[in-house]
Amino acid sequence: MTGYLLNEGYYDKAVLPLGSTEWHGEHLPFGTDALVAESLAEAVAERVDWMLLLPTMPYGMSEHYAKFPATFTLSGVTLITVVTEIIDSIHSHGINRLLVINGHDGNIAPIEVATREYRVAHPDMKIAVLDAWWVTAGKLLPKGTFEAWDGLGHGGEGETSMMLRIAPSNVNMSKARGIIPSLPEEVKYQWLFDEITPYGVTGDPTKATSEKGILMWNALVDHLVSFVNMMDEEGWEVGPQAQK
Ligand SMILES: [Zn+2]
Repeated sequence: MTGYLLNEGYYDKAVLPLGSTEWHGEHLPFGTDALVAESLAEAVAERVDWMLLLPTMPYGMSEHYAKFPATFTLSGVTLITVVTEIIDSIHSHGINRLLVINGHDGNIAPIEVATREYRVAHPDMKIAVLDAWWVTAGKLLPKGTFEAWDGLGHGGEGETSMMLRIAPSNVNMSKARGIIPSLPEEVKYQWLFDEITPYGVTGDPTKATSEKGILMWNALVDHLVSFVNMMDEEGWEVGPQAQK
């Protein structure tokens, strides 16, 4: 078996949680995105074989949230470099299978650039990315699970429900308030967050419940565990090269 030897044993793959530090309304903590990514990553690493849980990246690309209090941000270019260099470090230690779990919308494009370019330069480094858990959770759960805006939104029904599952003592439901913006559907409008919400929240967090959070968390963890097990069986190859 190839892999990296730590005190606990050999690791043949790693999971990297990526978050952000930014305003999530008055009802959620600044570290929400990092907490969610970390919680999912921890649970997956516990339930699959030989997966190294990497430290959570607490900062992300949050420039479009910067008008809200205590929002910290890296530039997109910086985040591309950070993600690339973390992947390069993992790779240099002999681990060539990586799952990235992202908790923040602004990180999606930098992760895409970093991981695409890394794979082209190092085809032996296998990388999979859960880039938007909030969208995936909606696809995994039955229609009608959410009451407002399909559960979407920054600090909205879905994210607040996840936080009620993960860190309920950090959620203040009495302060929950949001707005559902009207945005074009087929073409992406590059909003600045303060243009679409006065609260720093989109969606409807007042519809959040811990029950919905449990459903989302369980569905995502089960899905990721099955995914990693399937990838292990297929040598982290896809297409005709996969070991069927
Ligand atoms: Zn968030």
